[in-house]
Amino acid sequence: LGPTVCVGEILVEIVATTVGDGFREAQPLIGPFASGAPAIFISQCGRLGGAAAMVGAVGNDDFGHVNIDRLRRDGVDVSTISIDPDYPTGSAFVRYRKDGSRDFVYNIARSAAARFGWSQGVRDLINRSGHLHVMGSALSVPSAREVIDKAVDIVKARGGTLSVDPNIRKELQLDEDTERRFARLVSAADLLLPSGEELERAASVSGEAEAIRRLFEVGVKEIVLKRGSLGATYFGRDGDRIDAPAFLVDEVDPTGAGDCFGGAYLTCRRLGMSPDEALTYGSAAGARNVTIRGPMEGAGTRQELDAFIASTERRS
Ligand code: ADP
Repeated sequence: LGPTVCVGEILVEIVATTVGDGFREAQPLIGPFASGAPAIFISQCGRLGGAAAMVGAVGNDDFGHVNIDRLRRDGVDVSTISIDPDYPTGSAFVRYRKDGSRDFVYNIARSAAARFGWSQGVRDLINRSGHLHVMGSALSVPSAREVIDKAVDIVKARGGTLSVDPNIRKELQLDEDTERRFARLVSAADLLLPSGEELERAASVSGEAEAIRRLFEVGVKEIVLKRGSLGATYFGRDGDRIDAPAFLVDEVDPTGAGDCFGGAYLTCRRLGMSPDEALTYGSAAGARNVTIRGPMEGAGTRQELDAFIASTERRS
């Protein structure tokens, strides 16, 4: 039914190589790496051989080409990534605190990443796409909202499917309009990919079981809950539950795990695999990505993930 399309921010990321509670202690930094959660997701789809296309924008600068070249190499259709003549490519600096958490310095609002919009090219792509993936975080970008609203309506009307990764942390306060849009997006989702507390946030209730029940009630068809190094769990509408233990790896850089997991899970499902098989590839993609520094440097091909699965133990 056509390619998987992802809409959202495209960034470069500059990454600390040591742990420190300030950027001065976290030296040296390395990069630029191709990044942005939606770009990581679609990179993993393309690397696994699924038909994939990206909608977003970069600046007319070298950082933009880092992204476009990378996604093209991954097999992603980049023809709907627009090049903004006036604004630079968005960027993020990330460092790791001693307590294991991360701190980001973003330049998105005044970058090309926040300025893409609906166009004839985007319309043509959406009109032939079979699946749309949206990150909740994209709803905070006004220009992305319009693209997402239109794209969701078109894809659903032509019998395509929608996946949603809430990608909204509980510290983030959303205004009422964004909350409403988010709720609408969640209820239209065929596949919901929350991590941790986002499950309850997406359902607006507390308690895992209650949240799952509520989400199926509003229309979600399939839920996969990501639990970091503890693994992931699939919930089906029919009451099915599959727990996928995490692979045992040394985490070097957690950025991008959830996006690689989601891109791999979705692509495998679209290629006809069962939830169980798709969970194995998703878990492998997430785990492999955290072993390599850089947001999407560890996104794997089918051969790389097969080799990883064959050679890596899982938690019991
Ligand atoms: P997000 O980045 O969206 O918060 P997670 O951190 O839960 O997502 O990671 C997604 C998936 O990647 C997990 O469900 C797990 O399968 C895998 N993963 C993430 N971190 C690790 C880790 N340290 N070891 C093994 N697997 C991991």
